[in-house]
Amino acid sequence: MNVLVKGAGVAGLTVAYELCLRGAEVTILEPFRDERSAASWYAGGMLAPWCERESAEQPIIDLGSKAADWWEATLPGTVTRNGTLVIASPRDVKELDRFGGRTSGFVHIGEEAISLLEPDLGGAFRKGLFFEGEAHLEPRRVLKDLRTMLTAWNTRFETEMSAPEISDFEWVLDCTGIASSDTDLRGVRGEMLLLRSKDISLSRPIRLIHPRFPLYIVPRPDNIFMVGATMIESHASGPIKARSVMELLNAAYSVHAAFGEAEIIETGAGIRPAYPDNLPRVVKTGNRISINGLYRHGFLLAPAMARQAADMILPERNVRHETHRQWL
Ligand SMILES: Cc1cc2nc3c(=O)[nH]c(=O)nc-3n(C[C@H](O)[C@H](O)[C@H](O)COP(=O)(O)OP(=O)(O)OC[C@H]3O[C@@H](n4cnc5c(N)ncnc54)[C@H](O)[C@@H]3O)c2cc1C
Repeated sequence: MNVLVKGAGVAGLTVAYELCLRGAEVTILEPFRDERSAASWYAGGMLAPWCERESAEQPIIDLGSKAADWWEATLPGTVTRNGTLVIASPRDVKELDRFGGRTSGFVHIGEEAISLLEPDLGGAFRKGLFFEGEAHLEPRRVLKDLRTMLTAWNTRFETEMSAPEISDFEWVLDCTGIASSDTDLRGVRGEMLLLRSKDISLSRPIRLIHPRFPLYIVPRPDNIFMVGATMIESHASGPIKARSVMELLNAAYSVHAAFGEAEIIETGAGIRPAYPDNLPRVVKTGNRISINGLYRHGFLLAPAMARQAADMILPERNVRHETHRQWL
């Protein structure tokens, strides 16, 4: 079975992986050499279905609750299972109850427990919600590792292909995110920063209740922190706006004053592809399948979407027995 996957974001790479596992011969068409063309490049990497339920529907939990297991089984050692801590500044503390009222899978915690979980936040926050079952990963690392593994499995990566070449494939999967021609899709711009500071240590994503958009800080290796993210109804790519930088920096500073001295090592904006109901879709039309609408949840939902799509083509998942580690 030979399959073309268009797009090497998280949707394309995960479905390519699932298809390779089932014995398909996969080619990936990705015209842009610069990884910054993908929304996936900008993601925080939170695998947080229970927190996301605050603004999302139940399918996000149903589809996403096993995502951490999938990533860990696929790329051992890439998932950190330390949960999520949700906090609020004293003036927004009532909003924690509202957040808790819309979510599940957490415990209420006080100042002492916050200090035990995150010593660097000790004394600064009196109340929080701890979502113990959640996890996070480093998106750029898992994208790179998936590419490495796929290459080792003889997946071809192409930057150009003619229409006749494309029509030779038995199946074509469209994973082009916001570049898809699907007119139901809209873009939701997400701006983010990467900060570096040796003066702060965090073990898990911290979500700060914020009146305008969900703000979070995700720790990464080498003293780096991803701070995100705006939610702007727009297809427009391009540099981050000054207001967004100010809001994200203010939020980081209110979590810990040492962020005021952090280095800003990167700013960026990705366009999340979303359907009107903000839920993902796998749509089959003849020998074409589209996986899209991953919205705020690409890393959380891609494993389930990849399996759905692969099941439409090759239901058996039994061909590759090699340990994945040997490819990395
Ligand atoms: C700031 C920010 C933070 C986020 N945080 C999280 C998070 O913490 N957790 C989470 O689960 N999700 C998060 N997301 C959401 C997640 O990043 C997206 O849902 C996901 O990246 C969408 O993946 P995709 O593969 O559908 O699209 P993309 O990643 O955009 O990939 C599409 C690919 O298709 C390629 N392409 C374009 N045109 C063509 C063409 N004609 N032919 C072939 N290829 C083409 C593009 O170059 C690109 O590589 C975040 C998003 C943003 C912006």
